[in-house]
Amino acid sequence: MSVELGFAETPEGPLTADKFPSKVGGIPAWLNPEFILPVEKVRCGVCEKPMILLLQLYTPEDEPPEAFHRMVYIFICSIGACHKTSWQKRSQLPKDNPYWNPSKVDDSNQPITTHHAAHQCVVCGLHGSKTCGKCKAINYCSREHQTSHWTIGQHKLHCGATDLSAEAVAKGIKLCRNAVLFPEYEIVSESETLPDSKEQDTLTEGSSLNNSQALVPVGDEVYENSNVDVDEAFLKFQKRISFQPDQVVRYARLEYNENTDPLWISDYGKPTADDLPPCEHCGQQRTFEFQILSTLLNHLNIDNTRTDSLDWGSLLVYTCKANCHVLKKVFVSEIIWRQDFSEEGLNFGHGKLEA
Ligand SMILES: [Zn+2]
Ligand SMILES: [Zn+2]
Ligand SMILES: [Zn+2]
Ligand SMILES: [Zn+2]
Repeated sequence: MSVELGFAETPEGPLTADKFPSKVGGIPAWLNPEFILPVEKVRCGVCEKPMILLLQLYTPEDEPPEAFHRMVYIFICSIGACHKTSWQKRSQLPKDNPYWNPSKVDDSNQPITTHHAAHQCVVCGLHGSKTCGKCKAINYCSREHQTSHWTIGQHKLHCGATDLSAEAVAKGIKLCRNAVLFPEYEIVSESETLPDSKEQDTLTEGSSLNNSQALVPVGDEVYENSNVDVDEAFLKFQKRISFQPDQVVRYARLEYNENTDPLWISDYGKPTADDLPPCEHCGQQRTFEFQILSTLLNHLNIDNTRTDSLDWGSLLVYTCKANCHVLKKVFVSEIIWRQDFSEEGLNFGHGKLEA
C-alpha cells in the first residue's frame, strides 16, 4: 500500500486560495471565496469559543466532476482541556470537530472574481458578519475576535485614525493572529519510501524496542519496562514512522478502488463500524482518507508544561467515498477519529517520537 506523506515546511510565499494550498495553521484559504464558513459552524462544543484551522488539505479527485477542486478543512479548539472532555468518550465528533468537504467546480479554472468575496474576520478568516461599530472598516466573526483585535491587535489605538500606515495595521493583525491562530506551514508532500525488508531488519536489530525490553518515557522519567505487554500496533507504527520521522500527515486514498487502513498507533481505540456511519447525504460508505500524526503537535507552539495541553496520538479522517455533491451546500461535515497511544503499552509524548 502506498501512502503520500506530508511534511510541514516554512512557506516560501503567501499561501493564498488561488494557489490551492495544503497547509497547517494560519487563516483558511477558502476554495470558494463567496461562501465561507460562519463561526456558528465551528464553535467548540465545550467552551463555545471559535475553533481555529488546524490544517487544510487540497485533495482533488477525478470523480465526480464536482470534486475537481476539493479541499478538506480541519478546525479544532486550541484548548486541550476541551478535547479531554469531548474526545475521551471516543465518539465521533462531526459537530465539534468538523471536517469540511466543499466540492466546487470552477469550469474555467479561473480564480473566482473577488468582488463576490465574502467579508472575512480579520483575525481568523471565518465569515466576518460583524463590523467594528466605530470605524465600520473591520470585520469580525465573533465578539471574541473583535476583543483580541481591539487589545492584542491594537485596534483601540488604530480605530478611526486617519494617518495610520498600512504597516501599522498589518503589524496589529499579525500580532493578533500570532496570539490566536496556529503558526502557518506549507504541507509539502512526498511518496513514502521504505527500505527493502532486509534493510528494515538490520535497522530494527539495534533498536531497544521489542516486547521484552522497551524504553518507556513517561513524563520526565525514562525507565525500562519489561513487564508491560507492549502494543504490537505501536511497535509497527514506531518502525514505519522511523524511516521518515518528520512526517506529519499520511494520505492514503491514492488508489480509488482500494481501501487502505490507517497506520494504527495502538491496538486499542480503533473505531467500530458504528462509529463510522455512512454519509448522511448520499448514504455511501465513509472510508479512511488520511491521518494526522502527533508529530504535528511539535509545530504548533503548544505549551507542553500544561497538563491540559492539546494532545493526540493520531487523528483519522474518514470521508464520503463518493465525494457527493450536495446542492447549495458548500461545506459537508465528515468524521474525524482520535486515537491515543495506549496507556498500557507505550505512552510516548509527542515530543519524543524521534526516539
Ligand atoms: Zn473549546
Ligand atoms: Zn474570527
Ligand atoms: Zn474600528
Ligand atoms: Zn456522500
